[in-house]
Amino acid sequence: MIVLQSPFPNPRALPPLLTVKPRLIRRLLLPLPIILLMLACGYSAYYLSTQIGIRALAESGERQLELHARAVESEISTHTYLPSLLELESSVSRLLLDLSEPRRERVNTYLEGLNKRSGSLAIFILDTSGRVLATSNWRDADSFQGEDLAYRAYFQDAIQGKPGRFYGIDSTGEAGYYLAHGLRHRGTIIGVAVVKIRLDPLEKRWERARLEAYVSDENGIIILSSDPARRLKAVHPLSAETKAQLAGSLQYHWTTFKELQLLARQRIAADTELLTLPASGENASAAQPISYLAQTRPLNDTLWHLTLLSPLQDLRRAAISHGMLAAVACALLAFLLIAWNERRKVIATRLAAREALQQANNELERKIAERTADLRASNERLKAQIRERRQAEETLRKAQDDLVQAGKLAVIGQMSTSIAHELNQPLAALRTLSGNTVRFLQRGALDTASSNLATINELVDRMGRITASLRAFARRADDSGEARLGKAMDAALFLLQPRLERTPLRIHRTYGDARLAIDQTRLEQILVNLVVNAIDAMHGQSDRQLWLEGHAEDDHYRLQVRDNGPGIPPSVRVHLFEPFFTTKPGEQGLGLGLTLSASLAAAAGGNLSVQHPESGGTAFELNLPLLPQSPAESSRDE
Ligand code: ADP
Repeated sequence: MIVLQSPFPNPRALPPLLTVKPRLIRRLLLPLPIILLMLACGYSAYYLSTQIGIRALAESGERQLELHARAVESEISTHTYLPSLLELESSVSRLLLDLSEPRRERVNTYLEGLNKRSGSLAIFILDTSGRVLATSNWRDADSFQGEDLAYRAYFQDAIQGKPGRFYGIDSTGEAGYYLAHGLRHRGTIIGVAVVKIRLDPLEKRWERARLEAYVSDENGIIILSSDPARRLKAVHPLSAETKAQLAGSLQYHWTTFKELQLLARQRIAADTELLTLPASGENASAAQPISYLAQTRPLNDTLWHLTLLSPLQDLRRAAISHGMLAAVACALLAFLLIAWNERRKVIATRLAAREALQQANNELERKIAERTADLRASNERLKAQIRERRQAEETLRKAQDDLVQAGKLAVIGQMSTSIAHELNQPLAALRTLSGNTVRFLQRGALDTASSNLATINELVDRMGRITASLRAFARRADDSGEARLGKAMDAALFLLQPRLERTPLRIHRTYGDARLAIDQTRLEQILVNLVVNAIDAMHGQSDRQLWLEGHAEDDHYRLQVRDNGPGIPPSVRVHLFEPFFTTKPGEQGLGLGLTLSASLAAAAGGNLSVQHPESGGTAFELNLPLLPQSPAESSRDE
């Protein structure tokens, strides 16, 4: 039997905990790295989106900053020519050279008209000591007329021949930009012309454009702002010196400066910062602080800076949603990867199983091939053995034949005395009868002579039968052949007639004339042996009986030769079929009878066995294959 060993280890062999635990732990620990991965992805996307957004915002802010800086510059530059223009006005220089009331009035009227046309806040003329000689607002109650402005920086610059530029709040509390120019007469500065312009339209424009911007002066004070709350706040902390200087110049009148409240400040480039300012407006206290990208650019012709504030709220919102999207995408990717990995594992397991199956198959095929080779080899061996056995059988059969022949010759030898006696008797009778017949013929007693001749004939016939049966017994025969049981039994009993006459016995015949697959002579020989043995066994008793009983059984015929002799002692039983085993005294037994008979029966496909009936005696059972009856016989039987 081929025992297949499974390529898979028996799962029952492992303790269940060992197989389940790592998987369970992996399952339990899995959410942690996924959450960490989601956070990392989300934060990275948020950071990247913010950086990219800031860069894009900075680029568009740059353009806007440039645009609005130009607008501020052009607003200022449209009025720069105005003070120098007054140098050409003769009434002005006349007033400065020789002050008189009519001249002042003329200049006042002129300045008033000019101021209206140019859209400036005020235009006024100062003498070299800084006193206002004439002004466009001479009619107003808070007119500058007669005011001493020598402390103003723009005057001090202009009197030295430099262009005076100044942003400040005047005594009326009105903020404005001052442009001053030293008026020359024959190369000497005889006075200063000042134009005060308003810059708040810029603030209105920013407001309309929803732009958050402011302009800070050289000290970092916001002078223009889209958000009024930021106006006049300091962008940087002011030094005590600056504060003192501002207070001295009354540039911003008596204003006390507060710093712009910054919640966070981060410089990201030379002129770019990230600022977080508290919310301004109506709900300033409730609202969240606002972060801005602050881009600053210096303004030409001034020491001022324009700062553009771009709110980062939208950008941050977009960055948060990008971050969340990235986190979700990461989680999705992680789940996809896990699913893919699981699938890969399943496929790998299946492949491994298939491979193992294939291996087992190959192993099985290899074993089958091996076993087949073994079987073929043992088959060859068997064939060789069969050949040898056949040869041995052949040799044995030959030996058996020789033995049979020897046995027959031995029987003939044994019987030679009785045969001689058998033949001598009729020979003696023949001699007497023939002599008598001659005498009867001479006497002419023809009847007696012919009856003698008839007796002679019978005697010759009997002698012929004896010699014929002896010849048939001595003749070699082969295994195949057919025999008639009735005929064989008659022949055997006939052959033994002399013995039967000497030792009379009662014979009970109950057998049919079966057609048996054995040579006729061999069957006769077996029967002679069995009957002789029975006669010999019953020799010493007076009541001698012999039963010859037979019946067909399937394709065999069983014939029993039973006697009521003394039976066979147990010590003898085991040696019965051994050649040359005999209990018969002297020359009587050769010990070949049963051996030969059993061999002949076996050679014909039957067997010979012995039974020891409880009633006594011995029963030999001859079992021989039956031949189907010829059609002629079967019709006769019917
Ligand atoms: P043999 O007749 O030459 O002795 P056999 O082989 O025929 O050789 O018989 C062997 C022995 O078996 C006999 O010597 C005898 O002791 C015993 N035997 C055979 N047949 C009978 C029988 N019918 N009753 C008792 N003994 C028997």
